Amino acid sequence: MSRPIDPGLADAAIAACGDASARALLDDWLSEREARCALFLDVDGTLLDIVATPDAVRVPDDLRTALQSLHRRLDGALALVSGRPLAQLDDLFAPLRLPASGGHGAQWRLAGGQPMRQLPAARFGAAQRERLLALARRHPGVLAEDKGSSLALHYRAVPEAGPALRAALDRLLRGPDGAGLRLLPGKMVFEVLAHASDKAQAIRRFLGAPPFAGRRPLFIGDDHTDEPALALMPQLGGLGLSVGRPAPGARAVFDHPRTVRETLIQATRRTQA
Ligand SMILES: [Mg+2]
Repeated sequence: MSRPIDPGLADAAIAACGDASARALLDDWLSEREARCALFLDVDGTLLDIVATPDAVRVPDDLRTALQSLHRRLDGALALVSGRPLAQLDDLFAPLRLPASGGHGAQWRLAGGQPMRQLPAARFGAAQRERLLALARRHPGVLAEDKGSSLALHYRAVPEAGPALRAALDRLLRGPDGAGLRLLPGKMVFEVLAHASDKAQAIRRFLGAPPFAGRRPLFIGDDHTDEPALALMPQLGGLGLSVGRPAPGARAVFDHPRTVRETLIQATRRTQA
């Protein structure tokens, strides 16, 4: 089930956007009439359920087929926009290779057949990386995931460690080893970024080139890290939809990634019928 924005939960900007359901809005934008949209999709928590560890997720076959079909129908204007590195996205969705941005905008390719491009200097210094890994080791149960241009500290297994982990990260980032680093809180994860990019910049980059240029953007995301992209959508005449909770810029909310998958799969089946 998708549900309309609850004005009691949403801020004024969201409530003003009305109560159209996320499913109906996505259906409408994917209809033939709206085939001039560019579809941008976060992955974890949006297309895929959040599971215990990032490497335990699986892409259902019918989702992979639906994405392939939508990518074709939108003339290539469908991209994954994720915090995961691009190589991980390719492994997850293989053999499908879509336009994608990884590492919260630090890596990208505009078409599946293109080589990856990457922001210059979007890397940690050796001392910075070691300090962060050491900090993770001091909190048993915290899983450190080194993504190259960012380092994620997952505390899903030890939620009670969250406040102390956050405090330690804040201290580190205020110190000399924190120069140039940025903290991005997510769902049971703190991600430290070695670059200044975000998903809004990633989407602007896609929209600056074919086949995305000139299309109305539609972005679906679930987490704090998706908020810059959701907030960008109204500015560009686009549509933002969130998953699990209202967010500024999102016109409606999907209850669960399952509903996002079902809506995408059913939309492609309808057009094939
Ligand atoms: Mg997400």
